[in-house]
Amino acid sequence: MIQFGTLNTESQPAGNPLTQKVKEHIHVLILGSGPAGYTAAIYAARANLKPVLYQGLQAGGQLTTTTEVENFPGYPDGVTGPEMMVDLQKQAERFGTEVRWGLATATDFTGPKHKVWIDEDFLIEADAVIIATGATAKYLGLESEEKFKGSGVSACATCDGFFYRGQDVAVVGGGDTAAEEATYLAGLCRKVYLIVRKPYLRASKAMQDRVTRTANIEVLYEHVTKEIVGGQTVEGVILTNSKGEEVRKDITGFFVAIGHEPNSDIFAPYVDRDETGYIITVPGTTKTNVPGVFACGDVQDKHYRQAVTAAGSGCMAALDTERFLG
Ligand code: NDP
Repeated sequence: MIQFGTLNTESQPAGNPLTQKVKEHIHVLILGSGPAGYTAAIYAARANLKPVLYQGLQAGGQLTTTTEVENFPGYPDGVTGPEMMVDLQKQAERFGTEVRWGLATATDFTGPKHKVWIDEDFLIEADAVIIATGATAKYLGLESEEKFKGSGVSACATCDGFFYRGQDVAVVGGGDTAAEEATYLAGLCRKVYLIVRKPYLRASKAMQDRVTRTANIEVLYEHVTKEIVGGQTVEGVILTNSKGEEVRKDITGFFVAIGHEPNSDIFAPYVDRDETGYIITVPGTTKTNVPGVFACGDVQDKHYRQAVTAAGSGCMAALDTERFLG
């Protein structure tokens, strides 16, 4: 029986998938429009692989939710995330990539040709698929968090920490990411509050040691974020402690580091993933366990998660694809 990976239970291919006709054959199909997807597209198009790229739910990927990008090589004066993604798209199109709106909602990687459903009922068959669907940062789900996204609330300290030099900030989370982000920010900021909901950190022992050794990090155990407050930008955070009391900390930056969700569910029946959903690639390559299916960018990288590392792995995916197709 053919199994379908789906984004959620409502995103099954419409009608009976077994009787659906392939509507289009594509040589190289790229899923995702972040730095990984567009870089794969630039290389694939220049190699005459005629790539078609579907942008997915969030055209431009995670970078479109950030403001200034100052650490991508080649932009000495910085660039905004959305501008950079427009540049990458133009560059991919210049060499012949066809960029389309649409979301991959299901897959069937059982045959030699790879089937992908776009928007539930447009069935494509591809010789090779490059998965560059990224990861989605988890947020707390507060209204105030939504309000200040891009103006004080961020899910990436490496991207945005620089804007809070010399200021007081908070990081929420107790895992390795939160510990790493707090330590990174401590090098830039005056004071970093690490807000942890449990009485302990989940982070590795080494990361915990780094946190405790850093004088300007204050860990607030058993504190839960109630609200982020401010006018145009963030001015403070209201927390609730284990006694149920409200505590206010004055901060200008609020960094959410409670984990990421790799966008890999639709590939799950065929492509090997680790226990947290990240796609497993053969070390040093972008090859998945399915011949002709490659993965690059944040969907297979939980360690670096930078635009430039995603772009680098996008390049690798295109080169691996070119070799696969011979
Ligand atoms: P994790 O899932 O490991 O940790 C998430 C943290 O956020 C937990 O402490 C969790 O709390 C907390 N959290 C979750 N939801 C909420 C919420 N609603 N409110 C408050 N706190 C919340 O995610 P990470 O991103 O830290 O790490 C993911 C993986 O990547 C891990 O395997 C990690 O080891 C790895 N990693 C490795 C790094 C390295 O080796 N340098 C760097 C970064 C990540 P609780 O503990 O209570 O569940």
